[in-house]
Amino acid sequence: MNESVFLASLLDEMPEVVPLDDHNRALVAHVHPTDWQNPPPRARYNLVVIGGGTAGLVTAAGAAGLGATVALVERQLLGGDCLNVGCVPSKALIRAARAAAAVRDAGAFGVEVPTGVRVDFPAVMERMRRLRAHLSAHDSAQRFRDLGVDVFLGNACFTGPDTVAVDEQTLRFAKAVIATGSRASEPSIPGLKETDYLTNETVFSLTELPQRLAVIGAGPIGCELAQAFARFGSEVFLIETLHGILPNDDPEAAEIVQRAMVRDGLHILCCGKDLQISRPDDGKRLWVDAHGEHYDIVVNDILVGVGRTPNLEGLGLEAAGVTCEKTGVTVNERLHTTNPRIYAAGDICSPYKFTHTADAMARLVIQNALFLGRTKVSALTTPWCTYTDPEVAHVGLDAKQAQAKGIPVQTLVQPLAEVDRAVLDGDPDGFVKIHIRQGTDRLLGATIVAPHAGDLLSEVTLAMVGRLGLKTLARTIHPYPTQAEALKKVGDAYNRTRLTPFVKSLLTTWLGWTR
Ligand SMILES: Cc1cc2nc3c(=O)[nH]c(=O)nc-3n(C[C@H](O)[C@H](O)[C@H](O)COP(=O)(O)OP(=O)(O)OC[C@H]3O[C@@H](n4cnc5c(N)ncnc54)[C@H](O)[C@@H]3O)c2cc1C
Repeated sequence: MNESVFLASLLDEMPEVVPLDDHNRALVAHVHPTDWQNPPPRARYNLVVIGGGTAGLVTAAGAAGLGATVALVERQLLGGDCLNVGCVPSKALIRAARAAAAVRDAGAFGVEVPTGVRVDFPAVMERMRRLRAHLSAHDSAQRFRDLGVDVFLGNACFTGPDTVAVDEQTLRFAKAVIATGSRASEPSIPGLKETDYLTNETVFSLTELPQRLAVIGAGPIGCELAQAFARFGSEVFLIETLHGILPNDDPEAAEIVQRAMVRDGLHILCCGKDLQISRPDDGKRLWVDAHGEHYDIVVNDILVGVGRTPNLEGLGLEAAGVTCEKTGVTVNERLHTTNPRIYAAGDICSPYKFTHTADAMARLVIQNALFLGRTKVSALTTPWCTYTDPEVAHVGLDAKQAQAKGIPVQTLVQPLAEVDRAVLDGDPDGFVKIHIRQGTDRLLGATIVAPHAGDLLSEVTLAMVGRLGLKTLARTIHPYPTQAEALKKVGDAYNRTRLTPFVKSLLTTWLGWTR
């Protein structure tokens, strides 16, 4: 399975792989128009951008908006993973899955739902394709042409330190940006190669709900999709080699999500060892040992989400003098590659593989490449969120990371079970956990587990970027009842820790005098 399956199936009209409906035709018309004519290249560009995902699009639009001559090269679909096979389709599915769960759980709110309610999976997928096609207008080739960008559809390959070939054409540049992104990694699991399996490249083209689905990898992508498919009605087996799900998140947060997934009916097989796959006549068969038990599972489909591999192949990096590693293009703090003319941004060079990181890096590259900027990537405050239900959102350091840096840390936790709105909404499982530098109210980081943790987190991120402390969160009036009151409560808890016995005795004495 390679990363071009989605586009190839769309362009080659392969209805057995990808639905060829009006929505997908509209998508292609926007982000890879089949009648597109590449423009004649200019003598030399201020900036050539390779890759039309978030990092490339933001760089190209921003630079052209500031008056630079810009060429943007995309070999598949403008919009990259996020629009076509990542954030956008996955969040559309997750929203539908949340609707299904709300109907399932309606009885707890005194709402009677007739038995036999079921999810119309083809309709869920059709909604996703419609919304994706709608959003794709923003990333369209025509829009970028209208912004003044020379859009080239084709494979880009460096031919020298300041030249890129796109098919027969040569683009000369003063500066270039590599924004070629990443694709699903292929784990070496015995039998996997011989079995058709799904990745993010193909799962959003399903037209029938798999009755039984194995998901390999319990990181953000695996967890989000495993929970969504379980809510649609698939019997889902989530297999993870590590001890628990979401291994990069706060373990207490991951535990809450794991409990929610078990309530959704998922089979979670952590500490999975000796996984093997075969392809018998009746489906796809997996053998795995998990927690001392041996499992022999037959499923209709297998979805693999075990990490990302950078798209480095065929780029001609050697000709350009750009060094790379297994993890991607080598960059310094200012996103410079080993060729002083060439920068990189997004998944191709970032350990944080998120759309908003790609966007932030693109803005940094514009400053540094075109305007002698000196901004460092380490100066960015990067939040992230996993869109399971409940969501897990994080920013900054956790307690262990702070300690490892020698920073004395104090952690304050507010359970959602003590926040009125969370109780009334029926969402008491979650928390706001905030780490501060001990003896001060300076925010070091936070983890939030809540239905809309990603939205709640932005208040903390803003406070960190604006260097506002917990005292400011405490004196900010939050509307009652909102889940964001949890943040104010953490601020109040911090203020209470400042009420030492000495301060308390002073206050008591003062109040005694003024009676
Ligand atoms: C299922 C899934 C869900 C996700 N959900 C979220 C989410 O909710 N929130 C979030 O922040 N992130 C999410 N992500 C991550 C997000 O999609 C990526 O971090 C983001 O797309 C990275 O953008 P990018 O521009 O670096 O790379 P990409 O989007 O991968 O774009 C790179 C582009 O470069 C093109 N390209 C590669 N090589 C060449 C070449 N030689 N010549 C020309 N073009 C080339 C590719 O075709 C591609 O279009 C998700 C990812 C997946 C897979």
